Amino acid sequence: MKKILILGSGAGGTMVANNLRKKLSPKQWDVTIIDNDEIHHYQPGWLFIPFDVYTPQDCQKPKREFIPPGVNFVLDEVVGIDKESHTVEGKKNKYSYDWLIIASGCSIVPEEVEGMMDGWRKDIHDFYTLDGAVALREKMKYFDKGRVVLNIAELPYKCPVAPLEYIFMADWFFDVKGVRDDVEIELVTPMAGAFSKPIASSILGDIAIQKNIKVTPNFDIAQVNAEEKTIESHKGEKVDYDLLIAIPPNFGAAFLEGSGLEDPLRFVDTDHFTLKAKNADNIYVVGDATNVPASKAGAVAHYESETLVDNIIREIDGQEPKPTFDGHATCFICSGHEKAFLIDFNYEYEPLPGKFPFPGLGPFSLLGDSYLNYWGKMMFKWVYWNMMLKGVELPLEDQLTMAGKMRHTLVTE
Ligand SMILES: Cc1cc2nc3c(=O)[nH]c(=O)nc-3n(C[C@H](O)[C@H](O)[C@H](O)COP(=O)(O)OP(=O)(O)OC[C@H]3O[C@@H](n4cnc5c(N)ncnc54)[C@H](O)[C@@H]3O)c2cc1C
Repeated sequence: MKKILILGSGAGGTMVANNLRKKLSPKQWDVTIIDNDEIHHYQPGWLFIPFDVYTPQDCQKPKREFIPPGVNFVLDEVVGIDKESHTVEGKKNKYSYDWLIIASGCSIVPEEVEGMMDGWRKDIHDFYTLDGAVALREKMKYFDKGRVVLNIAELPYKCPVAPLEYIFMADWFFDVKGVRDDVEIELVTPMAGAFSKPIASSILGDIAIQKNIKVTPNFDIAQVNAEEKTIESHKGEKVDYDLLIAIPPNFGAAFLEGSGLEDPLRFVDTDHFTLKAKNADNIYVVGDATNVPASKAGAVAHYESETLVDNIIREIDGQEPKPTFDGHATCFICSGHEKAFLIDFNYEYEPLPGKFPFPGLGPFSLLGDSYLNYWGKMMFKWVYWNMMLKGVELPLEDQLTMAGKMRHTLVTE
């Protein structure tokens, strides 16, 4: 029996396991998925915990609920990969493979910013971990006056729109609390504007202005001075805060260090279009673990999983992999007051206005905020648990389609 090993049973690994099991004979192929955590975390839900929209329980389910019959779930912590001998080292066992899929995601490393840990979970908080989101909820509950600063340390970080959503939701939250006039909100970012893509950046930057949110661009953080409550850039600029919401550097899994597969941030060096690991035979990569220049998002992992599964099956059948992944990303952006934007883009085309997923009809509006988009964002949790993870077909094209998009604003990179 030949073996396929999947490292990580988060969004990407689980989708791939479900799709592979449907397409490969269980008599010929043993499919095993390894994870060190029994709980599946719906990470998009962490954004809502500080605002008391979701509870931690809303964002967790047992991983085994999503593992299809015929796939082995192994609870173990991966500590290394030997790509030459086709083996993976876990804390409990050693595993051999014919094909390996790396789906181990990425996580925040606040220790990478000098001084950040001095104020961690005191005046410096995050919502990129469950514990962080819960602690931030307590902080937000009693925060009535002062400066809330959200800082993005560096690119890439997962869910590139989540920081914007946080500040837009914070504006709403403090407004409803009746203290908005006493709270200043500022986004401090290393990017040239509110977002990385110019058209969306300009539209979202205008929304920030309308909401009286200051955007400070081109800020490369060098250190946090926790005692004086300032962040300082490499150029010596300082921004003071009462509450710092940090998006610290994001790194790939620790076991990739020294594997010969990784880049300096421990993301796996991956072919942008086939999703095959560049420095190895028989290894594919999905989701946040890749270093492809697409957004690190669950929706992207969904589109990637289609290319990845097709390519592994092609290779098993003796065919060349196809370069079909186009960087497609589809993301809702909450803008507060129960409204949201939607953006749909890929490597080649930046987000454009229009309608999605049905050209001309929608019902969702691209690059315009609406109540219906917010409803879509709220529905995403149900779609994630009940369709995406289980590999149920969605009414979405894997590759970006220009139908329904307003091309006159088109700018290519
Ligand atoms: C605040 C926030 C908001 C977000 N909002 C959205 C959104 O609105 N829309 C969207 O599409 N995406 C969103 N995302 C991003 C989305 O959650 C991730 O992109 C997605 O989960 C990536 O899937 P993945 O499988 O690559 O990684 P993960 O889902 O993180 O899974 C990685 C798995 O690997 C396991 N693992 C790691 N190391 C080891 C090890 N050593 N041994 C064994 N197992 C290991 C982990 O336990 C985990 O189960 C958001 C993320 C955050 C943090």
